[in-house]
Amino acid sequence: MATQPFDDRPGVIWYDGQFVPWKEAKLHVLSHGLHYASSVFEGERAYGGVVFKLDEHTRRLHESARLLGFEIPYSADAINKASAELLSRHKMLDAYVRPIAWRGSEMMGVAAQHNKIHLAIACWEWPSYFDPAQRLKGIRLELARYRRPDPATAPSKSKASGLYMICTISKHEAERNGYADALMLDWRSRVAEATGANVFFVKDGELHTPTPDCFLDGITRRTVIELAKRRGYKLNERAIMPEEMTGFSECFLTGTAAEVTPVSEIGPYHFAPGEITRHLMEDYTAAVQPKAHAMAASA
Ligand code: PMP
Repeated sequence: MATQPFDDRPGVIWYDGQFVPWKEAKLHVLSHGLHYASSVFEGERAYGGVVFKLDEHTRRLHESARLLGFEIPYSADAINKASAELLSRHKMLDAYVRPIAWRGSEMMGVAAQHNKIHLAIACWEWPSYFDPAQRLKGIRLELARYRRPDPATAPSKSKASGLYMICTISKHEAERNGYADALMLDWRSRVAEATGANVFFVKDGELHTPTPDCFLDGITRRTVIELAKRRGYKLNERAIMPEEMTGFSECFLTGTAAEVTPVSEIGPYHFAPGEITRHLMEDYTAAVQPKAHAMAASA
């Protein structure tokens, strides 16, 4: 795929309180964040120049860092202002926004108690492709080899870079086998989530989604639950075993990047994206528009 590499683009990156030229936003190879994965990040999406649920993302970023034992030295307010200014400097309307915080280079061992905490925020164009007819065909997922870890094994509620190692391996394997993504089970062999999105199912007109007790309770997931309730759909948040997928009629993923993405296949299980998925895609499209978002915030 020939896209412009991410270290060589025009524009600026917000880096430790300053806007620096994109190509100069560098860190040293001896950074704790790189060697020991002591870094946390967010994936945000701007629609019409406004980041959807920005404050929730920023709070999750702070919480992710806290779970890794460090504190980001910028308030939520300062971070929110920085990303808004970044978008307006780039004159970007539909964009992806990526804040990342990491431990620096003062100590280079497992212990890094006094390392400086850095924060950078970048953004790039990301048009929204709402072509419901095409999307309703659904994507195909493979069952992943790796499982979401027990919360006693890893800080599973943190959006920490280290937790993505098994996601990248699983997604690469799925792509090699001709699938779009992989569905991960959890450490108890229950259905968990995709490599970068949560999962929902439909059965007899009701929604079913796994309880997020060892993976991210996505911001999109919570939004879609709200939208489903407004539609009057019954939502069952519970433990789901993989064999149950035989009896589900529809399936979709939710995530900042995925939005609401219909799924047609997970390994041996087949689904037919239908009315409930379509309604929630439409409702989500409406909810992320800046006007709808502003209305919800002031309600
Ligand atoms: N799970 C994983 C592993 C993810 O990377 C994401 C994307 N951040 C999600 C779920 C969905 O979260 P959100 O809706 O907050 O983007």
